[in-house]
Amino acid sequence: MNLSQQVQALKEQLVQLRRDFHEFPESGWVEYRTAAIVAEQLHQLGYHVYVGEEAGKSESRMGVPPAAVLQLHETRAVSEGADPAWIERMKGGHTAVVGVIRTGKPGPVLALRFDMDANDLTESAKPEHRPVTEGFSSQHKGTMHACGHDGHTAIGLGVARLLNNHRDALCGEIRLLFQPAEEGSRGAKAMVDAGWLEGVDYFFGGHIAFQSKRLGEIVASTNGFLATTKLNVEYTGKASHAGAAPEEGRNALLAAATACLHLNGISRHSGGATRINVGRLEAGTGRNIVANRATMQLETRGGTTELNEYMKQEAIRILEHAAMMYNVSCEWEIVGEAPGAQSSPELIPLIRQAAEHMGNVDAIVPSRDLGGSEDVVYMINRVQEQGGQASYLLFGTPIDDGHHQECFDFDEEVLLIGTELLARIVLLCQEENG
Ligand SMILES: [Zn+2]
Repeated sequence: MNLSQQVQALKEQLVQLRRDFHEFPESGWVEYRTAAIVAEQLHQLGYHVYVGEEAGKSESRMGVPPAAVLQLHETRAVSEGADPAWIERMKGGHTAVVGVIRTGKPGPVLALRFDMDANDLTESAKPEHRPVTEGFSSQHKGTMHACGHDGHTAIGLGVARLLNNHRDALCGEIRLLFQPAEEGSRGAKAMVDAGWLEGVDYFFGGHIAFQSKRLGEIVASTNGFLATTKLNVEYTGKASHAGAAPEEGRNALLAAATACLHLNGISRHSGGATRINVGRLEAGTGRNIVANRATMQLETRGGTTELNEYMKQEAIRILEHAAMMYNVSCEWEIVGEAPGAQSSPELIPLIRQAAEHMGNVDAIVPSRDLGGSEDVVYMINRVQEQGGQASYLLFGTPIDDGHHQECFDFDEEVLLIGTELLARIVLLCQEENG
């Protein structure tokens, strides 16, 4: 069987895996069930498998949920069929998984990255939504795979299988990185800091859809990643009786509301694109009480690391000065962050060559801007800093609803395209360097 036939033979498995992950979605740092399945399959295929703190550096994780939440999800994963032995090794929100093939033959070091987390969103129950019709919609209320990471994880396991079929042809070292907590830009840094990008000559990551919405189209390299910072903010004032002693209160609600409006008034920047969004604001306890506490979740973005830094510094200045206006205190915490990045243009010809052999790819776009944020940039930057090359691909597929929306779904044929293309790229890199 040639490679394309081997991928076709995997189709049912890939679809089943994707649907299983879709049915049991897990958000950042609680991907226990997903990670346990990934670890077990890699282990069965004979990969060296690394989990827990070996796979992702504990202190470098951002936005990890409280211990009680982690424990709840550890228990849930086991009740939903995860192997308790793997869960034991992932405890405390250590859900990164790495599978490694060391061939013992001289050759390049390759790393591929697949993200595994879902979104905090309740999936649509509309009868025309395919996961509902075909019986694989999310069983976890409030959590849904609305970005396609269920597909990415299935593709990663497909690639693992194909490379295993071709072990004899491999040289150098291959690292498959299954990353937690991409949403909110919280997870990639932990895998970088655990050392998995050290010495990497070639790195590839990718996403389904986004700026490529036609099946058969692939984008060889993505640029224009928006740098981003995610902030949690807490204002603390003093409660008082709103009728009898309003002057004794210090109003955290007004400080937060003032900050919120002025954040949106940060000056545009002549250097390029900037964004700001306050996505959540909560304050107060009751109608007749001066609010003593307010919390906000916000994010800044910029076309470059510098532009985002400008937005972040301006935001912090406004947050702190709004507190001063109302004589309340302000604490803020960075719960996610990612710089900007560029794919290596040198890899475009190689990716084109790999895709040209595929019967199901009819359009190869050299480069396109992502126009969003992706914490894969930590990995891309680390590889390039050491002289390696890195590219982020897009695998075209139509989608039923936008990314992060409740009717999100995609054409599962793209699972075959992603799997075959990445496997072909790995084999080509080795031919050129072996
Ligand atoms: Zn995504």
